[in-house]
Amino acid sequence: MSSIEQTLSIIKPDAVERNLAEDIKGIFIKNNLNIVNSKKIHITKDEASEFYKVHQSKPFYSDLCTYLSSGPIVVMILEGKNAVLANRKLMGSTNPKEAEENTIRKLYGISIDKNSVHGSDSIENAKKEIDFFFKN
Ligand code: UDP
Ligand code: MG
Repeated sequence: MSSIEQTLSIIKPDAVERNLAEDIKGIFIKNNLNIVNSKKIHITKDEASEFYKVHQSKPFYSDLCTYLSSGPIVVMILEGKNAVLANRKLMGSTNPKEAEENTIRKLYGISIDKNSVHGSDSIENAKKEIDFFFKN
């Protein structure tokens, strides 16, 4: 079973800062995930805290929100066959040290917190996350 889905991707501050946004976008495009919307923004810590609120009970929550708001990010809507899972596969494991060869996090991630990209983990969360950044 395959279906056309949309998912949210974020290029995090560590990757934007190292000018990797175009390379990462190229990986999505080459792998048939079309970038149907994209914008470069710099969010506040409050906005990051709202975005990542599913993690509010985790010990890394505050640092994570400080980090996501520490510099410009690129937020994108990716569209394609099974886009949610396809994007997660291209990203690789959360910890770049454990990420599979040729995944974005293996290629570019620095550490578990500076791991270059975010991707929605389900269709339901993808809808919420797309709305968070792209609903006017
Ligand atoms: N994170 C962290 N320390 C941890 C686990 C996660 O700093 O021990 C950060 C990491 O940047 C990750 C984000 O929190 O991307 C969200 O965690 P999640 O488990 O949802 O990982 P992801 O879905 O991004 O792979
Ligand atoms: Mg996650």
